[in-house]
Amino acid sequence: MELEEKDGSFNPITTFIYKTHAIFREMGFLVAEGPQMETEWNNFDALNVPSDHPSRDQQDTFWIKDPFDDRVVLRSHTSSVQGRFMSNNKPPFRVIVPGRVYRQEATDATHETQFHQMEGLVVEEGITLASLKGILEDFLEKAFEDKNLLIRFRPGYFPFVEPGVEIDISCTFCKAKGCRICKETGWIEILGAGMVHPNVFSAVGIDSSKWKGIAFGLSPERILMLRYGIEDIRLFHSADLRFIKQF
Ligand SMILES: [Zn+2]
Repeated sequence: MELEEKDGSFNPITTFIYKTHAIFREMGFLVAEGPQMETEWNNFDALNVPSDHPSRDQQDTFWIKDPFDDRVVLRSHTSSVQGRFMSNNKPPFRVIVPGRVYRQEATDATHETQFHQMEGLVVEEGITLASLKGILEDFLEKAFEDKNLLIRFRPGYFPFVEPGVEIDISCTFCKAKGCRICKETGWIEILGAGMVHPNVFSAVGIDSSKWKGIAFGLSPERILMLRYGIEDIRLFHSADLRFIKQF
């Protein structure tokens, strides 16, 4: 049946998540989900972020008091599903976790109190940062529909990985020559990743002397904003149909 004007269409974030599922399924990934209201343990402790860890302050979290007096949060990242999934599944596995996350921060063109993330987690014997590079290169080339996309790793810090890396792509606007969008560097930061920290494995009872893991977290909004030149993240939730009809 032909769609009529009044029928509308998917939000570009939904379309992106479906497309991303297809790309990762080809590489053997399953899709897992978790709750948006999450325990403190899954959101922080299981990820090597104990209560006195300074990185808790980097994420302005919405805390919720629940009737059973457990400490509960609106999850601040989809990494919260790592502990949940690894506590209930035996490796090896490859999984992606798409979903909505929440941060208590002022809203502007690049910040929203709710947005999406997609966590990737692979636990296998002998998996390395080289595997991570291969997987992400394949994904990013397809997501940006650019076979000549380059990626580079820089050292980065996230408490639940060691070593951690920030990953840049060659600027898609100027073909890495340097422009306003990439601040004349030719590179754009696109996601964070690393090798799963042994403390995360011990929190969920996986033997880190046998199993190795890679984890990455990407933002559908960020990739779509770069891919289509969208300048304001708030447009994704706008009721203005002129925005959504472009996709
Ligand atoms: Zn550029």
